[in-house]
Amino acid sequence: MDIQDLFQQLKNNKRDTELVNKAWRFALQAHKGQKRFSGEDYIIHPLSTAYILAKMGLDSPTVAAALLHDVADDTPITIQDIEKEFGKEIAFLVSGVTKLGKIKFRGKTRQIENLRKMFLAMAEDIRVVLIKIADRLHNMETLSAVPERKHQRIALETLEIYAPLANRLGMGELKGQLEDLSFPYIYPEEYQWLADNVRERYEERKKYLKRVEPILEEILAREQIRPVEIHSRAKHYFSLYKKLLKNDRDFDKIYDLVALRIILRNIDDCYAALGIIHQRWRPLLGRIKDYIALPKPNGYQSLHTTIFCNGGKITEIQLRTPEMHERAEHGIAAHWAYNEKGKPRSGVVVDSRELAWVKQLTEWQSQLGNSEEFLESLKIDFFKDRIFVFTPKGDVVDLPEGATPVDFAYQIHSEIGHQCAGARINGKVAPLNYNLKNGDVVEILIQRNKKPSASWLDFVKTNTAISRIKDIVKKPYRIPTPPPQKSAKIKLTASDRIGLIKDVSSVISNSKINILNFDSLNQDSDVVVNATVEIKNKLQMERLLRKLKDVRGVKKIEENF
Ligand code: MN
Repeated sequence: MDIQDLFQQLKNNKRDTELVNKAWRFALQAHKGQKRFSGEDYIIHPLSTAYILAKMGLDSPTVAAALLHDVADDTPITIQDIEKEFGKEIAFLVSGVTKLGKIKFRGKTRQIENLRKMFLAMAEDIRVVLIKIADRLHNMETLSAVPERKHQRIALETLEIYAPLANRLGMGELKGQLEDLSFPYIYPEEYQWLADNVRERYEERKKYLKRVEPILEEILAREQIRPVEIHSRAKHYFSLYKKLLKNDRDFDKIYDLVALRIILRNIDDCYAALGIIHQRWRPLLGRIKDYIALPKPNGYQSLHTTIFCNGGKITEIQLRTPEMHERAEHGIAAHWAYNEKGKPRSGVVVDSRELAWVKQLTEWQSQLGNSEEFLESLKIDFFKDRIFVFTPKGDVVDLPEGATPVDFAYQIHSEIGHQCAGARINGKVAPLNYNLKNGDVVEILIQRNKKPSASWLDFVKTNTAISRIKDIVKKPYRIPTPPPQKSAKIKLTASDRIGLIKDVSSVISNSKINILNFDSLNQDSDVVVNATVEIKNKLQMERLLRKLKDVRGVKKIEENF
């Protein structure tokens, strides 16, 4: 596509064309005469970056900032000039992206520094990181023109940082693209092997599914269900490659090589269609997944099933609404798509629960600094696939795949972790190193005054658990000389909600106050928490009360200190 066509496409995707036009003219002028490694005009790069974001439905300020994102770096124009011309918001976005670009370090330190900056930027305005990811996507698309000595580093950084980030933000399509673009640079032989082996299979499967589509349409129509769309989706190369490694490189074991995707008008239709499909084709045991009732932690929703389709061919089918589809492809960016109806919403605040992990990250990185330990724990705690498990009361706890009951216990409260003596999973006693599965109900059995065991370090997965256990295990000879403390009772009444108990207990433990006893009971729509805590002085108690009052839903607090 030539530059003018591409710009026309970009404008077709936006409503506030005046702002986009202005940014376009400004960037065009600023980059005049500059060329990329490929010999093309430089402007093609910011334009392509902006186009990626516009297609995802991002707001006009973000698209304008994308057009301007390299101006302050590569031309005499400064951030102040941009602010004068475009205002604070756009200047902020551009300077955020520019700062992310300036990483001085090399090797591992560079990666850590890069991530650290990403998280800080994300905590301030997620759009900065979205621009950076789009910028990287276009740079990867054109990487072959860049000097070869840079390929490895850029591709590895993409695979280890940008793709996991996109995944964590729920941007499934982008994550797949970033991985597939890095794949041939990092594992050239493996890539070639896969490409050689997969092409025909993809074609064959697609043809097969094309023949299934009309049958599906017919059986659904008989029950008055008319899908918005049916299409088939080939698995991305890199995720296919990873799956093959787990399955003896046997293509026949990959049921979702090409999956059939049905987009339906609403949730009722999704469940109804699932039933109709199962009446026609027998489902494989244990492969029906209800991510509508139980979304993945990154927000992904759909129904999945695997059936013995016509001719006994094992086929995966995914059912979802158009909103879920948008969300699955574009993740966090989908927030803008729904909110920009003629009038762009700026400085969008994304659901705070959704980005709670970003906040947590920012806190951790300030504790752990630029250590390799930080990077390693990040890779486990945040970039691994997540699972949801439940407390017996139905509170949701979000953990990395492979986490154990001990990780769960520490996630709830460090004392519960320390005193953890056993676990019941879905009502059955299970070992402490049991691998938790999505949807498990976990109950921790506690033994008072118990200490954590060093052997737990062999199986726990989360950074929280590792560091809490090390706190105790590393200092076995510490003679406890506790300051004089008095035990005090706190009675807290709050309107019940999921997460309340966890919020209350973490306020107490974050204040470094020991909990001697903690229980809760429901009274109508309220919950009453009784806690016995160790308090040093009046001031500490007052501070604690102030923090507890700020917990959402808290109505009343009594204490006897
Ligand atoms: Mn750039």
